[in-house]
Amino acid sequence: MTPDPDRLALAVDIGGTKFAAAVVDGGGEVVVTRRAPTPRSTDPDVVFAALASAIDATLDAAGLRLGDRSAAGAVLVPALGVGTAAPLDLTVGTVSPVNIPGWRSFPLRDRLTERYGVPVGMIGDAVAVAVAEHWRGAARGHDNVLGMVVSTGVGGGLILGGRAVSGSTGNAGHIGHISVDPEGPLCVCGGIGCLEAISSGPSLAAWARANGFAGGDGTAAAVAEAAVAGEDVALQAFRRSGAALGLAVAGAVTLLDLDLVVIGGGVAAAGPLLFEPLAEAYTRYAALGFAARPRVVPAMLGGAAGLIGAAAVVLSPEQYWPSGSAD
Ligand SMILES: [Zn+2]
Repeated sequence: MTPDPDRLALAVDIGGTKFAAAVVDGGGEVVVTRRAPTPRSTDPDVVFAALASAIDATLDAAGLRLGDRSAAGAVLVPALGVGTAAPLDLTVGTVSPVNIPGWRSFPLRDRLTERYGVPVGMIGDAVAVAVAEHWRGAARGHDNVLGMVVSTGVGGGLILGGRAVSGSTGNAGHIGHISVDPEGPLCVCGGIGCLEAISSGPSLAAWARANGFAGGDGTAAAVAEAAVAGEDVALQAFRRSGAALGLAVAGAVTLLDLDLVVIGGGVAAAGPLLFEPLAEAYTRYAALGFAARPRVVPAMLGGAAGLIGAAAVVLSPEQYWPSGSAD
């Protein structure tokens, strides 16, 4: 998309551990941001109030209301871009994030429109990361991209033909819940052998502990540290996680004829520990010439990617706002 220096976007990133809101400029730079921990409450209104206060604090810090001009003359576009933890349902504007128990079929789009009086563009959080990497990060110049986040869960979002892909309900790209092992562990979603149940940080760490790992606090970060130090079970845990990712990515690339796969998130920050076994499995399973061609690369934008992607929904709606305006 073409950066427009005369426009600012209000962007929101809804995750299971934190809410973030930001004013993002036309070049994709975060100008002001505020965060709040995601309430563990089962009361949907308590959760919504925390989100609204993060948004309000961001507007206050920027000294702007939606539709205002900044001191530099750029307009804060009267719309709200939202990247939300999945699943969501764009047909009715509801969200039911697995890690936010207070929200089940919560009418997020209507509630935000009611409160702020503007249209709300919603996409899944992993789609937001894919959009951000396509706009400003590792996937610039590529029109057919799978963006993935490997951290507490495994998320995915698709750019095809240069456009964000939503699918029927906004959930296209859910690669974390494709089964890569029919005999594998049960997944939080109810499935069996899902990629997330094998390759996510908690899954990787649980497997390592079940196989004798006792280092540090037992998290994926501790396993990564032990793997760097050469501990065998830790290395095996990363090999298993990477191999499952490579298998799933090979399937996605073969199905969609992609140019590039971009992978971010805390587990991906382990670098070669994860990417080497991933590449090995990918090469083994992507047998057709066109499928073997794409590269798998680390993401570039880190923690701000979700906000940058949500801003793109406002700044380039025709490209990234798959459900159209909220009217
Ligand atoms: Zn699953």
